[in-house]
Amino acid sequence: MEKTQTTFTCRFCNADIKIEALTKNLKVCPACDAHYPISAQERLNLLVDVDSFEETDTNLYSIDALEFPEYPDKLERDIAKTGLRSEMLTGAAKIGGYPIAIAIGDVGFIGGTCGAVIGEKVTRCIEHACETQLPLVIVSVSGGMRMQEGTLALMQMAKTAAACTEYAKNGGFYISVMTDPTFGGATASYSSLGDVIVAEPGARIGFAGPLAVASLQEELPENFQKAESLVAHGFIDHIVHRKKMRQLLTDLISYI
Ligand SMILES: [Zn+2]
Repeated sequence: MEKTQTTFTCRFCNADIKIEALTKNLKVCPACDAHYPISAQERLNLLVDVDSFEETDTNLYSIDALEFPEYPDKLERDIAKTGLRSEMLTGAAKIGGYPIAIAIGDVGFIGGTCGAVIGEKVTRCIEHACETQLPLVIVSVSGGMRMQEGTLALMQMAKTAAACTEYAKNGGFYISVMTDPTFGGATASYSSLGDVIVAEPGARIGFAGPLAVASLQEELPENFQKAESLVAHGFIDHIVHRKKMRQLLTDLISYI
Protein backbone atom coordinates (compact mmCIF):
# COMPACT_ATOMS: atom_id res chain seq x y z
CA MET A 1 0.00 0.00 0.00
CA GLU A 2 1.82 3.11 -1.22
CA LYS A 3 1.06 6.20 0.73
CA THR A 4 0.63 9.64 -0.79
CA GLN A 5 -0.71 12.64 1.07
CA THR A 6 -4.41 11.87 1.05
CA THR A 7 -4.71 8.70 -1.00
CA PHE A 8 -3.46 5.14 -1.04
CA THR A 9 -2.78 3.09 -4.13
CA CYS A 10 -4.19 -0.35 -3.42
CA ARG A 11 -1.42 -2.88 -3.95
CA PHE A 12 -3.96 -5.49 -5.06
CA CYS A 13 -6.03 -3.58 -7.66
CA ASN A 14 -4.02 -0.35 -8.13
CA ALA A 15 -7.08 1.81 -7.43
CA ASP A 16 -6.34 5.20 -5.91
CA ILE A 17 -8.37 5.38 -2.73
CA LYS A 18 -8.87 8.29 -0.38
CA ILE A 19 -7.47 7.46 3.06
CA GLU A 20 -10.71 8.67 4.59
CA ALA A 21 -12.74 6.27 2.44
CA LEU A 22 -10.45 3.38 3.34
CA THR A 23 -10.73 4.15 7.05
CA LYS A 24 -14.51 4.46 6.85
CA ASN A 25 -14.59 1.09 5.10
CA LEU A 26 -12.74 -0.55 8.04
CA LYS A 27 -9.49 -0.58 6.02
CA VAL A 28 -11.01 -2.81 3.38
CA CYS A 29 -10.36 -1.61 -0.19
CA PRO A 30 -13.70 -0.26 -1.53
CA ALA A 31 -12.66 -1.28 -5.05
CA CYS A 32 -11.45 -4.87 -4.65
CA ASP A 33 -12.34 -5.81 -1.05
CA ALA A 34 -8.72 -6.46 -0.04
CA HIS A 35 -8.44 -6.54 3.76
CA TYR A 36 -5.57 -4.41 5.07
CA PRO A 37 -4.24 -4.82 8.62
CA ILE A 38 -5.89 -2.94 11.46
CA SER A 39 -4.61 -2.28 14.97
CA ALA A 40 -5.62 -4.30 18.02
CA GLN A 41 -7.62 -1.35 19.33
CA GLU A 42 -9.46 -0.90 16.01
CA ARG A 43 -10.23 -4.62 15.98
CA LEU A 44 -11.47 -4.48 19.54
CA ASN A 45 -13.79 -1.58 18.71
CA LEU A 46 -15.12 -3.55 15.79
CA LEU A 47 -15.84 -6.78 17.62
CA VAL A 48 -16.88 -6.19 21.22
CA ASP A 49 -19.81 -4.37 22.80
CA VAL A 50 -19.18 -0.72 23.62
CA ASP A 51 -17.43 -0.16 26.98
CA SER A 52 -17.47 -3.88 27.75
CA PHE A 53 -13.72 -4.54 27.53
CA GLU A 54 -11.76 -4.92 30.75
CA GLU A 55 -8.09 -5.33 29.98
CA THR A 56 -5.99 -7.70 32.08
CA ASP A 57 -2.25 -8.13 32.63
CA THR A 58 -1.41 -4.57 31.66
CA ASN A 59 1.70 -4.82 33.81
CA LEU A 60 3.36 -7.43 31.56
CA TYR A 61 5.85 -6.14 29.01
CA SER A 62 8.85 -7.51 27.16
CA ILE A 63 12.43 -7.12 28.33
CA ASP A 64 15.67 -7.75 26.49
CA ALA A 65 16.64 -10.88 28.44
CA LEU A 66 19.13 -12.11 25.81
CA GLU A 67 20.70 -8.70 25.12
CA PHE A 68 19.74 -9.04 21.46
CA PRO A 69 21.11 -6.22 19.29
CA GLU A 70 18.70 -3.28 18.78
CA TYR A 71 15.81 -5.09 20.53
CA PRO A 72 15.35 -2.44 23.27
CA ASP A 73 15.22 0.28 20.59
CA LYS A 74 12.61 -1.63 18.61
CA LEU A 75 10.50 -2.21 21.72
CA GLU A 76 10.66 1.47 22.60
CA ARG A 77 9.80 2.45 19.01
CA ASP A 78 6.76 0.20 18.81
CA ILE A 79 5.47 1.06 22.28
CA ALA A 80 5.44 4.70 21.10
CA LYS A 81 3.96 3.82 17.70
CA THR A 82 1.10 1.60 18.88
CA GLY A 83 0.43 2.94 22.36
CA LEU A 84 0.56 -0.68 23.56
CA ARG A 85 3.00 -2.19 26.03
CA SER A 86 2.93 -5.57 24.31
CA GLU A 87 1.75 -7.06 21.04
CA MET A 88 -1.52 -8.35 22.42
CA LEU A 89 -4.57 -6.95 24.18
CA THR A 90 -6.12 -9.50 26.53
CA GLY A 91 -9.09 -9.32 28.84
CA ALA A 92 -12.79 -9.89 29.30
CA ALA A 93 -15.52 -8.35 27.16
CA LYS A 94 -18.96 -8.98 25.72
CA ILE A 95 -19.89 -9.77 22.14
CA GLY A 96 -23.58 -9.45 21.30
CA GLY A 97 -24.26 -9.34 25.06
CA TYR A 98 -22.40 -12.61 25.72
CA PRO A 99 -19.44 -12.49 28.12
CA ILE A 100 -16.19 -13.85 26.65
CA ALA A 101 -12.45 -13.92 27.22
CA ILE A 102 -10.59 -12.32 24.35
CA ALA A 103 -7.05 -11.78 23.05
CA ILE A 104 -6.25 -9.59 20.02
CA GLY A 105 -2.87 -9.20 18.34
CA ASP A 106 -1.36 -6.10 16.76
CA VAL A 107 0.93 -6.50 13.74
CA GLY A 108 2.36 -3.02 14.31
CA PHE A 109 4.25 -4.23 17.39
CA ILE A 110 7.51 -5.97 16.34
CA GLY A 111 5.65 -7.46 13.38
CA GLY A 112 3.10 -9.09 15.66
CA THR A 113 5.72 -11.61 16.73
CA CYS A 114 5.11 -13.80 19.76
CA GLY A 115 7.58 -13.59 22.63
CA ALA A 116 7.49 -14.61 26.28
CA VAL A 117 5.01 -11.92 27.30
CA ILE A 118 2.53 -12.73 24.53
CA GLY A 119 2.74 -16.42 25.37
CA GLU A 120 2.10 -15.64 29.03
CA LYS A 121 -0.77 -13.24 28.27
CA VAL A 122 -2.43 -15.70 25.90
CA THR A 123 -2.00 -18.51 28.44
CA ARG A 124 -3.49 -16.43 31.25
CA CYS A 125 -6.39 -15.44 28.97
CA ILE A 126 -7.10 -19.11 28.20
CA GLU A 127 -6.80 -20.05 31.88
CA HIS A 128 -9.20 -17.25 32.81
CA ALA A 129 -11.68 -18.57 30.23
CA CYS A 130 -11.23 -22.05 31.70
CA GLU A 131 -11.78 -20.98 35.31
CA THR A 132 -14.81 -18.83 34.52
CA GLN A 133 -16.22 -21.17 31.84
CA LEU A 134 -16.33 -18.35 29.31
CA PRO A 135 -16.11 -18.78 25.54
CA LEU A 136 -12.69 -17.77 24.21
CA VAL A 137 -11.93 -15.64 21.15
CA ILE A 138 -8.34 -15.15 20.00
CA VAL A 139 -7.72 -12.89 17.01
CA SER A 140 -4.29 -13.79 15.69
CA VAL A 141 -1.90 -11.73 13.64
CA SER A 142 1.67 -12.90 13.83
CA GLY A 143 4.95 -12.71 12.01
CA GLY A 144 6.01 -15.84 13.91
CA MET A 145 7.89 -16.31 17.13
CA ARG A 146 10.12 -13.42 18.26
CA MET A 147 13.69 -14.26 17.29
CA GLN A 148 15.02 -11.63 19.70
CA GLU A 149 13.81 -13.85 22.56
CA GLY A 150 15.12 -17.17 21.21
CA THR A 151 14.04 -20.25 23.14
CA LEU A 152 12.07 -18.13 25.59
CA ALA A 153 9.77 -17.33 22.67
CA LEU A 154 9.70 -20.83 21.20
CA MET A 155 8.62 -22.43 24.48
CA GLN A 156 5.43 -20.35 24.36
CA MET A 157 4.16 -22.68 21.65
CA ALA A 158 4.07 -25.63 24.06
CA LYS A 159 2.72 -23.51 26.91
CA THR A 160 -0.18 -22.00 24.96
CA ALA A 161 -0.99 -25.35 23.31
CA ALA A 162 -1.12 -27.03 26.74
CA ALA A 163 -3.48 -24.32 27.99
CA CYS A 164 -5.73 -24.84 24.94
CA THR A 165 -5.82 -28.59 25.64
CA GLU A 166 -6.76 -28.05 29.28
CA TYR A 167 -9.48 -25.58 28.25
CA ALA A 168 -10.88 -28.09 25.72
CA LYS A 169 -10.85 -30.88 28.35
CA ASN A 170 -12.95 -28.65 30.58
CA GLY A 171 -15.55 -28.15 27.87
CA GLY A 172 -14.42 -24.72 26.70
CA PHE A 173 -15.44 -23.23 23.36
CA TYR A 174 -12.63 -21.51 21.48
CA ILE A 175 -13.07 -19.48 18.30
CA SER A 176 -9.77 -18.71 16.57
CA VAL A 177 -9.80 -15.79 14.13
CA MET A 178 -6.81 -15.70 11.79
CA THR A 179 -5.98 -12.43 10.11
CA ASP A 180 -3.27 -11.34 7.69
CA PRO A 181 -0.57 -12.50 8.36
CA THR A 182 -0.62 -15.45 10.76
CA PHE A 183 2.68 -17.26 10.47
CA GLY A 184 5.17 -19.36 12.35
CA GLY A 185 4.74 -20.57 15.89
CA ALA A 186 1.31 -18.96 16.36
CA THR A 187 -0.02 -21.09 13.50
CA ALA A 188 1.80 -24.10 14.95
CA SER A 189 0.20 -23.65 18.36
CA TYR A 190 -2.75 -21.68 19.78
CA SER A 191 -4.02 -20.17 16.49
CA SER A 192 -4.71 -23.60 15.00
CA LEU A 193 -6.36 -25.12 18.07
CA GLY A 194 -9.76 -23.41 17.91
CA ASP A 195 -12.97 -25.45 17.94
CA VAL A 196 -13.93 -23.16 15.08
CA ILE A 197 -11.26 -21.46 12.98
CA VAL A 198 -12.22 -18.53 10.79
CA ALA A 199 -10.11 -16.20 8.68
CA GLU A 200 -10.45 -12.91 6.90
CA PRO A 201 -10.44 -13.00 3.08
CA GLY A 202 -6.97 -13.14 1.57
CA ALA A 203 -5.27 -13.73 4.93
CA ARG A 204 -1.83 -15.30 4.57
CA ILE A 205 -1.59 -18.23 6.97
CA GLY A 206 1.23 -20.73 7.28
CA PHE A 207 4.24 -21.97 9.19
CA ALA A 208 7.29 -21.01 7.13
CA GLY A 209 6.72 -17.95 4.91
CA PRO A 210 6.31 -18.30 1.13
CA LEU A 211 9.89 -17.18 0.40
CA ALA A 212 11.30 -19.96 2.57
CA VAL A 213 8.98 -22.54 0.99
CA ALA A 214 9.68 -21.27 -2.55
CA SER A 215 13.38 -21.90 -2.00
CA LEU A 216 12.57 -25.61 -1.62
CA GLN A 217 10.04 -25.97 -4.43
CA GLU A 218 10.13 -24.66 -8.01
CA GLU A 219 6.53 -23.58 -8.30
CA LEU A 220 4.02 -22.84 -5.55
CA PRO A 221 0.34 -23.68 -6.07
CA GLU A 222 -2.16 -20.90 -6.72
CA ASN A 223 -3.34 -19.12 -3.57
CA PHE A 224 -0.52 -20.76 -1.60
CA GLN A 225 -0.92 -20.04 2.13
CA LYS A 226 -4.03 -17.95 1.48
CA ALA A 227 -7.25 -18.38 3.47
CA GLU A 228 -9.09 -19.35 0.25
CA SER A 229 -6.79 -22.30 -0.31
CA LEU A 230 -6.75 -23.33 3.33
CA VAL A 231 -10.55 -23.44 3.64
CA ALA A 232 -10.68 -25.68 0.57
CA HIS A 233 -8.24 -28.08 2.28
CA GLY A 234 -10.06 -28.08 5.62
CA PHE A 235 -7.38 -26.23 7.57
CA ILE A 236 -9.84 -23.46 8.44
CA ASP A 237 -13.63 -23.58 8.64
CA HIS A 238 -14.89 -20.28 7.26
CA ILE A 239 -13.74 -17.12 5.52
CA VAL A 240 -15.56 -14.13 6.92
CA HIS A 241 -15.62 -10.52 5.69
CA ARG A 242 -14.45 -8.04 8.30
CA LYS A 243 -17.88 -6.38 8.30
CA LYS A 244 -19.57 -9.68 9.16
CA MET A 245 -17.10 -10.98 11.76
CA ARG A 246 -18.87 -9.57 14.81
CA GLN A 247 -22.20 -11.10 13.74
CA LEU A 248 -20.58 -14.47 13.07
CA LEU A 249 -18.93 -14.49 16.51
CA THR A 250 -22.26 -13.55 18.12
CA ASP A 251 -24.02 -16.37 16.27
CA LEU A 252 -21.39 -18.96 17.18
CA ILE A 253 -21.36 -17.98 20.86
CA SER A 254 -25.15 -17.91 21.00
CA TYR A 255 -25.24 -21.59 19.97
CA ILE A 256 -23.59 -22.58 23.24
ZN1 LIG B 1 -8.06 -2.74 -4.07
